[in-house]
Amino acid sequence: MSYQPVIGLEVHVQLKTATKMFCGNSAEFGAEPNSHVCPVCLGLPGALPVINAAAVELGVRAALGLNCTIHQTSIFARKNYFYPDLPKGYQITQYDRPLATAGWLEVETRGTTDPGSGSGSGSGSGQRDAGTQGRSPPPGRRIRIRRIHLEEDAGKSLHDRFAGKTAVDLNRAGVPLIEIVTEPDLASPEEARAFLGRLKQVLEYLEVSDCDMEKGSLRVDANVSVRPAGSVTFGTKTEVKNMNSFANVERALAYEIERQVALLESGGTVEHETLLWDAARGEARPMRSKEESHDYRYFPDPDLPPLVLERSRIEALGAALPELPGARARRFREQYGLPDYDAEVLTATRAVADYYEALAGAAADPKAASNWVMTEVLAWLNQRQCAITELPITPDRLAQLIALVADGTLSTTMARHVFARMAETGLPPALIVQQEGLAQVRDQAQLEGWADEVLAAFPAEAERYRAGEAKLLAFLMGQLMRRSGGKADPRQASEILRRKLE
Ligand SMILES: [Zn+2]
Repeated sequence: MSYQPVIGLEVHVQLKTATKMFCGNSAEFGAEPNSHVCPVCLGLPGALPVINAAAVELGVRAALGLNCTIHQTSIFARKNYFYPDLPKGYQITQYDRPLATAGWLEVETRGTTDPGSGSGSGSGSGQRDAGTQGRSPPPGRRIRIRRIHLEEDAGKSLHDRFAGKTAVDLNRAGVPLIEIVTEPDLASPEEARAFLGRLKQVLEYLEVSDCDMEKGSLRVDANVSVRPAGSVTFGTKTEVKNMNSFANVERALAYEIERQVALLESGGTVEHETLLWDAARGEARPMRSKEESHDYRYFPDPDLPPLVLERSRIEALGAALPELPGARARRFREQYGLPDYDAEVLTATRAVADYYEALAGAAADPKAASNWVMTEVLAWLNQRQCAITELPITPDRLAQLIALVADGTLSTTMARHVFARMAETGLPPALIVQQEGLAQVRDQAQLEGWADEVLAAFPAEAERYRAGEAKLLAFLMGQLMRRSGGKADPRQASEILRRKLE
């Protein structure tokens, strides 16, 4: 029997605010333990929480960017449970009256095939070219967002500080989060990963969060079940936690789906339980059931008034949203005539998209500009693991380089060399060309001289070419280019060679 996985995600995202959700302490990551705490985040008697307006605005931006309905009134509730890193004994969150509901995020399903696999990329480029002709939008799937609510984070237990003891750092207690809950709309681990990639991209465009998983500013839990293909009822789900990268989310989901299928195939039943992913061992282990049997006894927080948002304020925040990646990619296709693939690569981050737009504005050929960003620029950033803002070549300078290729001054090979020198020296391309004598040689006499040398050095090959071995022209051209130090204008040089061979 074949089975169909059903996956829903719960994503916790730390909002990019200076201070915590309900007090004025810094929300900065990585400070000395317990240096950012006060009576409010410690839950001391008499301390009164105050809602952080900046966090609310970021939450609303995220919800608008994810096409949700924002509720004008939402309620903060206490979620009661005891944990060593939760000093109040409850977490403030939103329960039955959340900030926003019923949104969606479009995921490019094509992106769900692994772009890194060699065979996949080969066939993919063929499809890509075919798709370019009609400029049809890429196939997308809407993953529904059930709700987005505001809440505060708990502290952090440290098990490696003192032998046999647990230490607690409460700097995180009260840090503002949103929780984004999807409907169980994801149909494979690959699709879950693609969704998360898109979500992170959108949240970064919105400047809502830095989405850094290593710092814990984006955390993912998943609900997973399987059902016989074609069945409409859901199977029993398990919850998988503790996945600390998108690659691990994909691995953990694949593991858990396989485990559930094997269990059902052997006549067993799936238990409703919480599993912790162990990346080192590549397996998910059940949490002890005691740790997950909570009765949270939610009730509205008596210290906090309902969160009321004026319609005009929501509208103002909506009007201030930036152009999101999907829309920007569509515009890039239309405005600059780019293929789908280019448009997607160039809009992967807002900074790269901004760089491309500045370059396309300065260069005559938007497709040439795209090629340069997608190859040399991204390779340079990749090698150095840095952001495009650190590239010492401004869009204007890169446009000058592209112009030198277009007017025939530089061959593509030489232009790549000049690019590397520009990145090293910060000098304009024309100066590098002049200093290093890199301009393409188009002088007729000079080119004829090289051609004569090559024909004198390889008479046998020249003879075979004349006898009909056409592919030897490439060999002879290669010899000519080598003699010119790569500077011969290839079109002119090959014309001269061919003429001399007749
Ligand atoms: Zn505080």
